[in-house]
Amino acid sequence: MRLPVDIDGSRGEGGGQILRTSLALAILTGRKLRMKRIRAGRKRPGLQRQHLACVRAAAELCGATVSEVDVGSQDLVFAPGTEWPQELRIDIGTAGSTTLVIQTILLPALRAPHPVRAVITGGTHNPLCPPFDFLDRVFLPHLRAMGADVTLTLEKIGVMPDGGGRVVMETKPSTLKPTAIVEAGRVIARRATAIVASLPRHIAERELACAQERLDQPRCEVIELPEAGPHNLFMCEVELESGARELCTSHGRKGYPAEDVADDALDELEDYLEAGVPVGEYLADQLLLPMAVAGGGRFRTLPGLSLHATTNIETIQAFLDLPIRFDGDTVVINDWA
Ligand code: AMP
Repeated sequence: MRLPVDIDGSRGEGGGQILRTSLALAILTGRKLRMKRIRAGRKRPGLQRQHLACVRAAAELCGATVSEVDVGSQDLVFAPGTEWPQELRIDIGTAGSTTLVIQTILLPALRAPHPVRAVITGGTHNPLCPPFDFLDRVFLPHLRAMGADVTLTLEKIGVMPDGGGRVVMETKPSTLKPTAIVEAGRVIARRATAIVASLPRHIAERELACAQERLDQPRCEVIELPEAGPHNLFMCEVELESGARELCTSHGRKGYPAEDVADDALDELEDYLEAGVPVGEYLADQLLLPMAVAGGGRFRTLPGLSLHATTNIETIQAFLDLPIRFDGDTVVINDWA
């Protein structure tokens, strides 16, 4: 019998990622998860609709048994099962992030004995979460290079406050292998996207004008969503010759000029390019789990790991006995050379 794992959700960053990583690893290791003080570090602690959707998705994916939980619950017992459906439908019911549900179930789904198709309804471009485009174009290429057979399809964009977006995740059984992501190189493609939902088009056009001024001939796109919002977001991204990518996002808010919205994301992108590394801040915390599951890996990233990343390392190490160290600018998992 494998021992249960006790996780204190108030440690380190104290947010939802501790829950998502723990759910994924409970399924992948077949160990029971006992979690306390879930999201104790947040203003509204405990499970919110978004996190309940992650718990439900993880439970459905493998036929797990879960203690009774509701909005606000701070304790959870999750005993993974062995019944894997081929099709899952997860409706978050709010604008809660579909991409964070994917962050929870993607790696376990690769271990299912058959292909899995999950249709997830909710927000696809939320503040404080990876936008769909980040998962699809920044995270997934690395995961595929590690051996994952996965596609994500954005069927409908969903933004605050109503959500209503739809993402489809399709996986085939795959085994991840260790990889190194250490090369950066020169920029070979640039892109900028501005989304305006029930807001004037000129907001998006002004944001893209900033991108044109600061990036060298980016591919620009305005997306207008007349039936959603009101909301605005701006994304700018680069692809490097090594295959590495970064996508930086900023969200508009009332009284904050469109030019400043664009500059926030463009500044972040500039910092990434100046650092000359392949892996940006958010990707760093998101690569830890797949590399740990693969049994090793290494990547070069910005100086100083985020609290999200160090907390994720602690959570991973509660399940898996493997060293993860930060050596100069390189994260090394399981001493993988
Ligand atoms: P938590 O705050 O614990 O719910 O975790 C948030 C997750 O979203 C982490 O994996 C972050 O890396 C990710 N994230 C937050 N903002 C962004 C962003 N702008 N781009 C990509 N990923 C993000």
